[in-house]
Amino acid sequence: MSSSTKTEFQTYDNFINGEWTKNASGEMFPVYDPSTEEVIAQVASSNQADVEKAVKAARAAFDSGPWATTSAQDRGRILFKLAEKIRQNSARLAELECRNTGKPIVEAEYDIADVATCFEYYGGLATKVLGSVNPVPANALSFTLREPVGVAGQIIPWNYPLLMAAWKLAPALAAGCTCILKPAEQTPLTALEFANCFAEVGLPPGVVNIINGLGETAGAALVAHPGVDKIAFTGSAAVGKLIVKSAADTLKRVTLELGGKSPNIFFTDADWEASIDGALFGVFINQGEVCSAGSRILVEKKIYPQFVEAMTEKAKRIKLGAPLDRETKMGPLVSKEQYDRVSSYLELGKKEAKVAIGGNRPREFGKGFYLEPTIFYDVDNTARIAREEIFGPVATVIPFEAESDAIRIANDTLYGLAAAVWTRDIYKAFRVVKSLRAGIVWVNHMQPTYVEAPWGGYKQSGFGRELGPWGLEEYLETKQVFVNLDEAPINWY
Ligand code: NAP
Ligand code: MG
Repeated sequence: MSSSTKTEFQTYDNFINGEWTKNASGEMFPVYDPSTEEVIAQVASSNQADVEKAVKAARAAFDSGPWATTSAQDRGRILFKLAEKIRQNSARLAELECRNTGKPIVEAEYDIADVATCFEYYGGLATKVLGSVNPVPANALSFTLREPVGVAGQIIPWNYPLLMAAWKLAPALAAGCTCILKPAEQTPLTALEFANCFAEVGLPPGVVNIINGLGETAGAALVAHPGVDKIAFTGSAAVGKLIVKSAADTLKRVTLELGGKSPNIFFTDADWEASIDGALFGVFINQGEVCSAGSRILVEKKIYPQFVEAMTEKAKRIKLGAPLDRETKMGPLVSKEQYDRVSSYLELGKKEAKVAIGGNRPREFGKGFYLEPTIFYDVDNTARIAREEIFGPVATVIPFEAESDAIRIANDTLYGLAAAVWTRDIYKAFRVVKSLRAGIVWVNHMQPTYVEAPWGGYKQSGFGRELGPWGLEEYLETKQVFVNLDEAPINWY
């Protein structure tokens, strides 16, 4: 990574074939600090011609470059070196991530540590990709080779920028793929800074390319390109659907990590303090800009009024502030667009339910896309605020009578990314776990995510899994090899 500090009005081109490359149109777009609303960088706006260049580089690197014959061991070593570079530069990357997203610095530091862990994990896994020998008749031998899928287009959102890049790049590189990463237009900076170390760790040119630009232009061109073998996408369900439709024309492999409206279920017998904390943490961490946010808080009727009251009391303590302040627990939303979107849900929520706390822009901030942590209660699960992903600091609290009601309400959603259940009764806990239609279910916690365990959704939360061996699997093809051991001719004609 370069030693220069590139956080002040830096201009970033595309990173293609190992070089910073000017975009065809010469058009740039601004990148903001959402806490000050100031421009902090200018970034190339790419079009079809730029994507063409990136695909050419990634294709050549995959088909005939040195990467094609780089051993699994050496790919693993490169991944370990990437992790080391991340750790060496963690303070600077965390600060940049913090400034660009508005998330609290303490959370950004966790993210960057997770980025390094992700590269380490897949560095280790690179050498553990095994084929099989298949039990065919005795006069033959059949085995499988696991081979990289090819050129992977990777489109990521703005909520965990470098971490989402790591979740996609690390398994792809472990598998031997080459990559074209399209960061979110709002938050490309950490991924671009990361590119400065690629040559130093021994990544050949063209193996990882980064294309800046808008989803509708750069992203769409990547999805449609016949030279791209696979698209890995994290973002909204609406864009996920567009991607599946467009990818159908070239029949590329697609994996989708979409949003959710995840239920966080609290029974009377759960630990009280842990529950109140867990309800708040589940929905307000990262300003609520989390795909697995526990945005529907289902509470057993017996404890419902006290629960809403205790959540409200504790929510008063959530410290909004400057992202770089270590005391800050909640920063601004990522962009004006997201601020407006969430604000419109706050207005809708005031019509659809009761407000326990929040619902407005906090008065103390003159600038920045800040919104109060908001708790709506007496929410009906048919209300729009209970059905649509808001992606901001907005909780909806819904009462339920019996265990069966909790399960029914929890599953009554188009989504199925995550869920959590809080109880001390292990029979009940596991009955509920088995009944929930979601890709991740926590018991007596919400949000911890480990690279060793799979991540992904049921239903309209997408398909495919990231992390763990499941994440690597998505970047592998299976080739069956049949060897005839019988020297006699087929003797058919
Ligand atoms: P988004 O529009 O789905 O964007 C995600 C990524 O897809 C971005 O890189 C985006 O580019 C790109 N993209 C947009 N349109 C595209 C197209 N037609 N073809 C290819 N790529 C395209 O999400 P967003 O605008 O960042 O946020 C909107 C909503 O998405 C949020 O409110 C939330 O509901 C959801 N979201 C979910 C997650 C998650 O982790 N599941 C994360 C973030 C957001 P641009 O940067 O130019 O838009
Ligand atoms: Mg967008």
